[in-house]
Amino acid sequence: MIYFFTTVAGVVLAGLLIGYIFGAPILGAFIGLAGYSLYSSQQLAKLHRWLMTGGKPPESIGPWGHTFEQIYRREKHLKSEIKDLTLALSRMRRSTKRLRMGVIFLDQQLHIQWWNPAAEKLLKLRPKQDIGQNLVNLIRDPSFVSYVGDADFTRSLRLPSPSYTGDTLRISISPIDKRDMVMVLEDITQQTKLDEIRSEFVANISHEMRSPLTVMTGRLDMCDSADQVTDRTLASLKMQTDRLTNIVEDLSLLSKLEANPVITDKPSFDLVPTIKEIFEHALAMSNGQHNLSLEIPDQVIIKGMQQELYSALSNIVFNAIKYSPDGGDISIQLIDDADSCTFTVSDQGIGIPEESLTRLTERFYRVDQARTAGGGSGLGLSIVRHVLNRHESMLNVKSVLGQGSTFSCRLPKNT
Ligand code: ADP
Repeated sequence: MIYFFTTVAGVVLAGLLIGYIFGAPILGAFIGLAGYSLYSSQQLAKLHRWLMTGGKPPESIGPWGHTFEQIYRREKHLKSEIKDLTLALSRMRRSTKRLRMGVIFLDQQLHIQWWNPAAEKLLKLRPKQDIGQNLVNLIRDPSFVSYVGDADFTRSLRLPSPSYTGDTLRISISPIDKRDMVMVLEDITQQTKLDEIRSEFVANISHEMRSPLTVMTGRLDMCDSADQVTDRTLASLKMQTDRLTNIVEDLSLLSKLEANPVITDKPSFDLVPTIKEIFEHALAMSNGQHNLSLEIPDQVIIKGMQQELYSALSNIVFNAIKYSPDGGDISIQLIDDADSCTFTVSDQGIGIPEESLTRLTERFYRVDQARTAGGGSGLGLSIVRHVLNRHESMLNVKSVLGQGSTFSCRLPKNT
């Protein structure tokens, strides 16, 4: 801009000077300006022609030459950026085309922008009709509607295929930025079938084992002996039969929980008496060996299955007793928040090594055999996880080996 002004000022000055020599400075300046305007119109015409036809910039000098050069440089830079972007885009499209997972790009209102062939196959999408459609018009399953309604995309969703093929899909949505989102779909039919077979197998085995175990327990109860060796053998047999019975009961409960991951209609109840009952049992179990404390509000009404929560929360408390040496402090807390409550159990027990923390809720996982000499099955925390999942909650564990552990969970009140 400055370059243009100084040039115009130069032309006016030169016109003034030449005009002055001839005794008409204003006329000189005017002729100078008119000449430069004519020249500029010519350059504008050149610019227009160049913009229409492309190619090299027109030859010119001064500010016009500089402007042509700038435009040319910027155009070259933009072209190379567009080339890079086009390459990246086509590379991305080629790779997503080969993906076995379905990929759909959506805007914030869930309008479909683009999909890959796997998504087309999984959702039976029609290229002409479905582009720009709202996804909720294509996937009408209520669980999907509430999934996108909640907009909590930290979790994925398991869904029967909307094209009624009997397949099962896993869907997860991730926001890309303020405008766009990407949805990934996986066909998990095989995995779901295997899970069902495994679950049925475990349920059948537990069912079949229950009757012989009941008979064995009954018979052992009836056995009586005068000699000490046989007494000890009978006691040991009874202990092992009880342990097996516990494992069978836990496995059967786990299968039931796994088969029904969602509770459709949860009754409301006050959680406080349940925690008090757990505390009473804990006192009896500890038998004065630990310093147990309870902090609890007067009332906490939540929606859920009282029996299930009793079994899950008591398991956490009983573990604190099992894995704490005599004299250890154990605190049990229920804190009432606005729309949830938090249950926490802290102990000063043997603690859990960091590498085991993520595996605690696996079936049959025990940190080591030595610490569970008392007969733990390793199923307790797995049951806790399933019960908490059914109550839209999860178990948090913090622990330092040799110093103690804190187990907590946040239970929503109204879902
Ligand atoms: P178990 O019947 O063996 O107690 P759980 O599933 O309840 O099975 O617990 C799994 C493992 O987690 C236990 O074997 C134990 O090693 C560890 N654990 C659970 N709670 C605690 C705790 N409060 N302190 C230390 N270790 C614990």
